[in-house]
Amino acid sequence: AQTKLIQNEKMATLGVLSAGVAHEINNPLNFIKGGVDGLLPIVSELEKKDKNLAKFVKIINEGVKRANAIVKGLGKFSRQTDSTIETCDIHRILEDCLLILHGTMKNNIEIERDFCSEQLIVTGNEGKLHQAFLNILANAQQAIVGNGKIAIITTVNDESCQIKITDTGVGMSEEHMTRVGEPFFTTKGPGEGTGLGMAITISIIEEHQGGLSLDSVESQGSTFTISLPLKVS
Ligand code: ADP
Repeated sequence: AQTKLIQNEKMATLGVLSAGVAHEINNPLNFIKGGVDGLLPIVSELEKKDKNLAKFVKIINEGVKRANAIVKGLGKFSRQTDSTIETCDIHRILEDCLLILHGTMKNNIEIERDFCSEQLIVTGNEGKLHQAFLNILANAQQAIVGNGKIAIITTVNDESCQIKITDTGVGMSEEHMTRVGEPFFTTKGPGEGTGLGMAITISIIEEHQGGLSLDSVESQGSTFTISLPLKVS
């Protein structure tokens, strides 16, 4: 099955709205964080007084960390941040992403690079493209249970380049595929996923006048194909 991942109006509106709410929540969240940070160093003393007190502090701390991750994710989604436009080398960005992932990569995952010989130069924001590729690669990594492979294949035609990221992970049903990119849609456990990664990725690719499509077969794996217009020289 194949589906084109687009950010529809509902998603865009939901994203902007949630980003606004997240911004407002950030302030009181920082109060809570300050309070918990003050309590954490004396947790062992609290434990002596009452076992439950220390437990509650830890629970609050976990909640604050999770809320922080969501607020940060929504901040990125609202894309009010960096709007620098520069010349981006796609192969270099992909190599940088792989370097970052290497640190968390389980050694049961084989990485295959099949980069075309041409230099792929795109006009856009390097940090955002980096974020978009990294989100897809991190999902690919997390989708693999046991042994598996992630392949990154790049190709080029006259005006655009394609970046294909394939994993031999758990794959997705057709219903599941249509929900990828919907803000807050996640199948990962609490604390593991915010369901914002692909929403951010789609909005970045669209900002670069590109496209993203998804092919997936349940229990076989998934392929995300990004296409981006090349810089006109
Ligand atoms: P998160 O990673 O926080 O869950 P994402 O927006 O990045 O949020 O992904 C949303 C959901 O899409 C994931 O929870 C997962 O169910 C599904 N998904 C994304 N990429 C893959 C993949 N390569 N293989 C299987 N499922 C995937």
